[in-house]
Amino acid sequence: MSAASLGHVWLVGAGPGNPDYITVAGMNALRRAEVVVYDRLSAPELLAYAPDDALLIDAGKAADNHTLTQDEINALLLGHGRGGKRVVRLKGGDPYVFGRGGEEAVVLADAGVPCTVIPGVTSAIGGLAAGGVPVTHRAVATSFAVITGHEDPTKPEAGVHWDRLATAVDTLVILMGVGRLDGIARALIEGGRDASTPAALVQEASTPRQRVVTGTLATIADVARDVGIEAPALFVVGDVAALQSTLDPRRLAPLAGKRVLVTRSRAQSSTLVDALRAEGAWPIVLPALEMERRVDATAVRDARAKLEAGEYNWTIFTSSNAVDTFLDELWGVGGDLRALTRVSIAAIGPGTAQALVRRGLRADIIAEDAIGEGLLALLAENRMIEGWRVLLPRAEGARDVLPEGLRAAGVILDELTLYLAAPPAEAPPEALAAIRNGEIDVVTFASSSTVRNLATLLGGDLSALASATVACIGPIAAQTAREYGLEPHVVAEVHTIDGMVAALRAHLHSLPEASPGTR
Ligand code: SAH
Repeated sequence: MSAASLGHVWLVGAGPGNPDYITVAGMNALRRAEVVVYDRLSAPELLAYAPDDALLIDAGKAADNHTLTQDEINALLLGHGRGGKRVVRLKGGDPYVFGRGGEEAVVLADAGVPCTVIPGVTSAIGGLAAGGVPVTHRAVATSFAVITGHEDPTKPEAGVHWDRLATAVDTLVILMGVGRLDGIARALIEGGRDASTPAALVQEASTPRQRVVTGTLATIADVARDVGIEAPALFVVGDVAALQSTLDPRRLAPLAGKRVLVTRSRAQSSTLVDALRAEGAWPIVLPALEMERRVDATAVRDARAKLEAGEYNWTIFTSSNAVDTFLDELWGVGGDLRALTRVSIAAIGPGTAQALVRRGLRADIIAEDAIGEGLLALLAENRMIEGWRVLLPRAEGARDVLPEGLRAAGVILDELTLYLAAPPAEAPPEALAAIRNGEIDVVTFASSSTVRNLATLLGGDLSALASATVACIGPIAAQTAREYGLEPHVVAEVHTIDGMVAALRAHLHSLPEASPGTR
């Protein structure tokens, strides 16, 4: 093997299901991969982090729709590894916990193909935690075992000694066992474990589809049948299972487990998405707004010249998007921040002011309410209007309150149209399906145009969201939601994304305890 063709295989644990549970090391490997061979149980969302030109191979569902055999997977890893590629083998949970990762590593070691194993959060511990069951607990469980339920417990030659395991440890975590719950429970009871021992099942742990049921060793198989629990699921037996009703994540934090519709543009949604994910919510992004640049370079050049000549007293920014677009376009015509040295800057609200700060600019005045009326009042209060020359970079089709108010007050106004905020040509079908199936718990509106555009995307009305909690960034968005028949439950007092999330948390937290129940 020449140095140039020496590849490398990373066996990466993807975690139990939530894509955020991959490790930093695993993410680094994935971001640099040339080939990704992924498992059925690894979070599909993770594939988006591989480079665009990476070869993605589904080891669970090959082209002809049959699962690749272990030999075929080994051959793939060897082939690409020997071919000089950076290969990531993405496996659910931890690669060495029932994932056949050990076998793959042995094959690579024998063949002399460089390999690195990157551990993952095993479903046996992390998935259980996501379901609300701690694997150990002081004075309740001081030991645990992770067992495969794949073998038929009634066969005498079985490798799992249920009779000995039954009482050997406090917590038994059984993977791959949903199909054999009756047999396993019986074998444990016969082995001496009390039939009244608490037990639980966690299906699709740490995903939005997670379901948890609880019972006892004697009842759990029937409970599972009644509710229709299916693989992949974790079966846990032991007193820790009784803690589930207390430690159900949905009881621990107001947004945990909630499916939250995010209607901002793709480019703008990341702050909200990150805030929601950190709270344990499931953001569903449906960009109801696309920022389409509509810039006339001559107009931008003209604005730059007037700014630099000191012809404007004020420039007013009415959204963070206006800040970013304007500064990008200013740069595009050869200008930079120095064009703004002779002009005062006004921001319509704190979110816009933050956008200015990110670009190294401090607003001279900031209105509190993020609506045009507030800024007008603030300007009037400061008696700074008559005879001003003002530059207003803004969206095509935006509200006219501010320009009309400024002109009425005797301002000489130059409007600079930068972009059109419009509904996107097409919406992600999964998000639309989630709305239509009534799966949305919370809908967030960060502007009134997202309300209107979402309604357009949904064929004119928002009734599919009637049972969702409606959260709005401010009074204008709330008013628009009302016009479409949605009564907002939350209207943020601080008109920023953080302000809206804070208000939403407070609202959900104050509700009479929602029963977590089966899900
Ligand atoms: N290497 C994996 C386990 C692979 S064996 C790990 O460390 O988690 C496959 C079994 O793991 C499944 O049958 C199921 O019992 C369990 N499992 C994996 N992911 C799961 C999830 N998100 N929810 C519930 N069980 C899961």
